[in-house]
Amino acid sequence: MKIHEVVKYPEPVLAKRATEVTEFDAKLAKLVDEMFDSMYAAQGIGLAAPQIAISKRITVIDVSFKERPEEKLALINPVIVEQEGRQVEEEGCLSLPEIREKVVRAEWVKVKAQNVKGEWFEVEGTELLARALQHEIDHLDGVLFIDRISRLKRELVMRKIKKLQKNGEW
Ligand SMILES: [Zn+2]
Repeated sequence: MKIHEVVKYPEPVLAKRATEVTEFDAKLAKLVDEMFDSMYAAQGIGLAAPQIAISKRITVIDVSFKERPEEKLALINPVIVEQEGRQVEEEGCLSLPEIREKVVRAEWVKVKAQNVKGEWFEVEGTELLARALQHEIDHLDGVLFIDRISRLKRELVMRKIKKLQKNGEW
């Protein structure tokens, strides 16, 4: 199984709107499997295709991190159809290692997506799952969580990234 390398900010693919998936073939199913493996290898609970430099609307999520296989989610062309409430929690991202900031998100979301066969389904989530769904769908629109924090905090994050880059740690 191929493990894809996760690209880091400011890789341009992370800022691009990803394109819709139209082919639901064996290649897609294989890519989704590889995305789960790549996500687990990187110790993540969510991964979007742009993070492995593939600009397509595909994301995988497992907030249980291998504990409950039935909770694994592969979402193709996902769309948030309803959302409610507000939560503020610290967030991280595999494309922004070592950066953690509090981000305002909806407390509950309902998402419509296609599975690897192209069949539409709905998934609802609160708390961490709601956060993961919003974070990953943001990736498909070229939005990172640092785009959702205050300008001042963002400047501090940029300074930290520059320092890490300078030290060859980014
Ligand atoms: Zn992320």
